Amino acid sequence: MGSSIRIGRIAGIQIGLHASWFVIFFIVAYLFAAGTLRQYHWEEPLYWLVGATISFLFFASVLAHEMSHALVARRVGLRVRDITLFIFGGATSLEDEPKRPRDEAIMAVAGPITSLVLGAVLWGIGAALEHEQEQLSAIASWLGIVNFSLGLFNLIPGFPMDGGRILRAIFWKVRGDRYAATRNAATIGRAFGYLLISTGSGWRSSVGSCRTRPRPRWRR
Ligand SMILES: [Zn+2]
Repeated sequence: MGSSIRIGRIAGIQIGLHASWFVIFFIVAYLFAAGTLRQYHWEEPLYWLVGATISFLFFASVLAHEMSHALVARRVGLRVRDITLFIFGGATSLEDEPKRPRDEAIMAVAGPITSLVLGAVLWGIGAALEHEQEQLSAIASWLGIVNFSLGLFNLIPGFPMDGGRILRAIFWKVRGDRYAATRNAATIGRAFGYLLISTGSGWRSSVGSCRTRPRPRWRR
């Protein structure tokens, strides 16, 4: 990714931030501070502080999602090149393609599971704090919704999103052929793929099937 900025390493994995993130950070913070959070009755600076915190932790949520793909990939013996965080998502780049359908499936499912679990836990914390600490409750509740949406959204079976990758792994297992499976998953996911191509999240691979089709520019 040409216009991404390296921000450091986590567990040895290079993390990059796409330039677009800086714009989106302010837009998300603004939408919360000037809109959504006005349902509360706070001092003016608190709207902006909470809005900026939610926006920043939105980024941390996407990072957690991508890190789970990357860590599972490494666990099954694949080399992870880097993670790049985009507007509403990220992409985990691998040096290798998964060798078995099972590896592909657990790598694909790790991200949405992490997001759904985080979403449920945060939403629960938000509900528990509702009458104790309104600002923390708002942060936790909204991040709960964000994470839960991230998890559900990525399960949509539009290859190369996570849901499409799970579908490909199933076809791969059944047919015993990764390339036929990719075609099947791509056909089924095409309607979704065209709709969501600019927002999908997943991992990009430098080798194998991803090369056989035009590479989507954005993944979530
Ligand atoms: Zn994902």
